[in-house]
Amino acid sequence: MIQVGIGYDSHRFVKGRPFVLGGVKIPYEYGLQGHSDADVLTHAIIDAILGASGFGDIGKLFPDTDPRWKDYSSLAMLKYVLQKIKEQGFEVQWVDSIVILERPKIGGYIEEMKLNYESAGISKEIVSIKGKTNEKMGFVGRGEGVVAMAVVTLRQLKY
Ligand code: MG
Repeated sequence: MIQVGIGYDSHRFVKGRPFVLGGVKIPYEYGLQGHSDADVLTHAIIDAILGASGFGDIGKLFPDTDPRWKDYSSLAMLKYVLQKIKEQGFEVQWVDSIVILERPKIGGYIEEMKLNYESAGISKEIVSIKGKTNEKMGFVGRGEGVVAMAVVTLRQLKY
């Protein structure tokens, strides 16, 4: 059986934090605000995996009231989630994702992001990451933050 999940996340740009996307520290004058490392793309992918597996959502699994997850690596969260779904007989079949931001350009970092996901447990051959701008419209267009979306299909190996 194949199950599908969708993930969405957004984070605000602030001064004084690193900009972490797909586990890559991208040089930029702003970073993303958040309880963890605020890796918006990895959060969207985690949420899509959780949605596809029926495990709820990222806020339920990693509440921002829990000091354990403060400044925690989102790749480590992903690794944890992949282990959790594996125990239930699920395997990731495909990940497609979009990062929407005005600046900086991220195209040159996508291969490194895929390698990070591979080290977390999703083969880079089954991960798609696409960068887009928002044509200067809305909060993304004004450079106030970043949006990420992901769709994941899981194979249920039990059936
Ligand atoms: Mg988030």
